[in-house]
Amino acid sequence: MHVAGKTCVLCRQHINGNRDGAFCDRCDSPVHISCVEAGPPPETKDPCKRCGASRRARRAQERKAEQAEAAENRAAGRPEVFGGLVLVAAGLTGACGLMAMMGGNLMMFPTILIAIGIGLIARGSQKMKGSDPGE
Ligand SMILES: [Zn+2]
Ligand SMILES: [Zn+2]
Repeated sequence: MHVAGKTCVLCRQHINGNRDGAFCDRCDSPVHISCVEAGPPPETKDPCKRCGASRRARRAQERKAEQAEAAENRAAGRPEVFGGLVLVAAGLTGACGLMAMMGGNLMMFPTILIAIGIGLIARGSQKMKGSDPGE
């Protein structure tokens, strides 16, 4: 992630270049290096010990990071659910085919497929559900 183009939480000005600013190691707030060196603005309550960002700025930053993580989780959960559905479908198809051909002697293979598929669906939907902001 580039710090250029972000807004400094200390002076609320644009950070023009990656060399002018940095993300605070402690709270991940985008700040000008010169602003960190100058110290927190006088009205800051409970400043971050590292960059001097106010608690409010830090919370906004944390929320943004959480939302990004939730979106990532949802994106990761979707293909898992889809893959699980495919596996279950393949397992069921295989089970029907084997049943017709061999009378159920080779049922283990499709059963394993179905089990893995159900596991994937459960995990994927858990990710998607558990990470929904506002729920
Ligand atoms: Zn600044
Ligand atoms: Zn900080």
